[in-house]
Amino acid sequence: MSTPVEPRVKKRGEAKPSPLMEQYRAHKSRHPDAILFFRLGDFYEMFYEDAELASRLLGLTLTSRNRNDPDPVPLAGVPWHQRDTYVARLLRLGHKVAICEQLEDASQAKGLVERGVTEVLTPGSLLAETFLEEAASRYLAALSWSEGERPTVGFALIEASTGEFRAGESSVGAAVIELSRQRVAEWLLPEGRGLPRDLDALVQSSGAVSMLGATDWASDPVAALGERFSAGIEWKGVWAAESAAAAARYLDRVQGGRAAQLSSPAWIATDDALIVGDAARRGLEIFEPSVGGKTEHTLWGVLDRTRTGPGARLLRRWLERPLLDPAAIDERLDAVQAWVERPTARERLRESLGRAHDLERLTARLAAGKAGPRDLVALATTLALVPEIAATVDEVPHAARLDRAALHLHPHRELVELLQNALVDDPPLALREGGLIRTGYDAECDRLREAARSGKTWIGQLEANERERTGIASLRVGYNRVFGYYFEVTKSQQARVPDDFERRQTLANAERFVTPELKRLEGEVLGAEDKLRAAEYERFVTVRERAAAHVARLGETAAALAELDASAALAEVAARHGYVRPRVSAEDRIEVRGARHPVVERALGSGRFVGNDIVLDPASRQILLITGPNMAGKSTYLRTVGLLVVMAQAGSFVPAESAKIGIVDRLFTRVGASDAVAAGHSTFMVEMVEVAAILRDATRRSLVLLDEVGRGTSTYDGLALAWAITEDLHREPGARPRTLFATHYHELTRLAAELPRLVNLHVRVREVGDDVVFLHQIAEGPADRSYGIHVARLAGLGAPLLARARKILGDLESQRAHALPAERSPLDPQLGLFQAREPEAARDHLAALAEALRSLDLDELTPRAALSLLAEWQERFGQGE
Ligand code: ATP
Repeated sequence: MSTPVEPRVKKRGEAKPSPLMEQYRAHKSRHPDAILFFRLGDFYEMFYEDAELASRLLGLTLTSRNRNDPDPVPLAGVPWHQRDTYVARLLRLGHKVAICEQLEDASQAKGLVERGVTEVLTPGSLLAETFLEEAASRYLAALSWSEGERPTVGFALIEASTGEFRAGESSVGAAVIELSRQRVAEWLLPEGRGLPRDLDALVQSSGAVSMLGATDWASDPVAALGERFSAGIEWKGVWAAESAAAAARYLDRVQGGRAAQLSSPAWIATDDALIVGDAARRGLEIFEPSVGGKTEHTLWGVLDRTRTGPGARLLRRWLERPLLDPAAIDERLDAVQAWVERPTARERLRESLGRAHDLERLTARLAAGKAGPRDLVALATTLALVPEIAATVDEVPHAARLDRAALHLHPHRELVELLQNALVDDPPLALREGGLIRTGYDAECDRLREAARSGKTWIGQLEANERERTGIASLRVGYNRVFGYYFEVTKSQQARVPDDFERRQTLANAERFVTPELKRLEGEVLGAEDKLRAAEYERFVTVRERAAAHVARLGETAAALAELDASAALAEVAARHGYVRPRVSAEDRIEVRGARHPVVERALGSGRFVGNDIVLDPASRQILLITGPNMAGKSTYLRTVGLLVVMAQAGSFVPAESAKIGIVDRLFTRVGASDAVAAGHSTFMVEMVEVAAILRDATRRSLVLLDEVGRGTSTYDGLALAWAITEDLHREPGARPRTLFATHYHELTRLAAELPRLVNLHVRVREVGDDVVFLHQIAEGPADRSYGIHVARLAGLGAPLLARARKILGDLESQRAHALPAERSPLDPQLGLFQAREPEAARDHLAALAEALRSLDLDELTPRAALSLLAEWQERFGQGE
């Protein structure tokens, strides 16, 4: 989080600050919320609070300037050439950095060297490759909202490194869902206004925060945007326009000019994508592995076979926002299929793309006037690939998206020619040091280069002449920045130095001299070199400007290449691992044959994963209740279904023999809770909060994955809740979401007798003597019993302990058989808590409990209130335990 740091004000009576410190303060006061890197010779220095903060964050030594002063100035510094490493670390920690450079050559300066802030770097506005991750976008997000009970939220997202610009407007809930799909590196918020609660939680959980004062928010945002962003968007909401205007203005400001890379904003619809909540994204390990896991063991790790940064970022966006419209999904699948059907073309495309640079970011830097010489060379190299890529696309079967991409594969011949003719192949990083322009491109540069070169030849000639004239064989010409060209003569030869040699410098073993002739030639060489550097810089800037005129079409080509890369990557994975094209439709049935978990399959190695069928249908198989021993594969089965839905709706083929996917609008999971536990909530509490959200928000088109419910409390409580929750999901009338429920509560399998749309499944195992063999096969019907003790044996618990556990189990089972009358309602004989009651009373209680859960308003529920609610329910329903 950025901490505004005000420069300390000098108190009256203190010594007058030095001119240097006054200069520092003047710059710092203009950037109070950034850490100021103040260039002093070979170092960037930080003073006062900045020094204290940076030394703590970066592990730098904190010293002080004017140590003997009564009020020494705290100081910490970094060598100039390590600037970016340190800046990157501060940015990652959510700070802003202002770079204050020396604007003139210190050796030429009369008095104090002039300095100025040349860049402000903030976590959400970065353009330079050094600070960016290739495969991920980092957004700048501005928020504004209306007052009142149910505020309307406007939000704008900018990806500064590519110029992507989007805005939308919705309720708080929908805004939270939309904004949590992608990584926000920096939030822009209006100063002095409290955020609506759920948004506040989101903002706190990630990214830096920058407060914008009243002047940053335009009074007429649509008008403010109008002049620049009139095309492409119809402003459907004033709050969206307000955030968009504020975001664009902020980016202009920190970039010290106009952020010209911004595209026209696109409208963000908040109802066209599959909602995968935070819990589901984590539980299914879509992008992030679970604690201690590896990124390659995530869905992203399996699917990202892209060859370019833009392709990777686009594929990531597809997975962040799987679609709901079967036609749009089919368009993506058509493109993937085209590449699957033409493996040679795919290979060729991927080989070409492997030589491409990040055209999206190059274009953005070009538009923003920040492209360096190497950027332009990379641009030429990349554009030169376009014709061969276009030829490759021509070979694959037609697919609407590929056809569209092909239309945008502009060869930019003229631009490539310009860049190739104007620039050398391997220019230096620096802009003003020369060495950029190719010989033959510009007559003036050629002439100056020739002059500098012949001047040097003449100096070489002069050296030979002087050697001969003086008879000093070791006489040599040297050069340094302070004295320019000189003759160096060793001490032993001093006697031979002629009178017209002027002494300039004395070293330990040698003396350095100049002559009028040497000075004259030096003037010619240096003059020509200076002029050459200036001329090269000028030509470079002109070339860059001419290139910048192409940014709109470059942007189209960049997007087209990203599209080809992403679709070919999905095809590559599909072909390599035997995935099939899913049939996606608006029906609500899910029917997959031989489904495999994409990540576990890869970890196990080919052919070792056992594929399973899945048939979910709200009309007849709405709830699949899965029982079976630990380690049998229940969780894997559940997650497979979730991942296949995400993949299919994102436009990917899926690991299965065949797959029909009836569109899912929202994916709910209740699997594991480690993160929230770390955040101080109890496992059980988190579980109940998640379940309450499911019961409240699930629709008929949702998919609910429950991996055990109620484990964190006493067996009876847990079973009772699991029971009531299952009934509620099945309730009529009700949302009836498609549900997979893996459980160890055997008793629940009896629900099948009562709930017509609940189907029991189990995972098969084979018993061999005392051992169990996991077959990982899902079969119809309930499991016959649990195998906890077998699994404990596999895990290495000792034989005496296991024998004892077997004995206890036997006792418990016979007691239960003895205590429980056989055929009553499936529930009450099992549950001690309802034992003393009549079945009707028990059912009433369950209904009441379910109703209470359903009516919970999670937006209003504090953890403390939730705990006391649980206590109250335990009191009310839990007697008899
Ligand atoms: P628990 O009840 O203890 O949570 P579980 O029944 O949910 O266990 P999983 O965690 O799904 O079991 O699976 C355990 C392991 O079994 C997995 O890590 C995987 O290695 C293997 N496995 C699961 N399903 C399959 C399968 N279909 N084919 C091959 N191996 C599988």
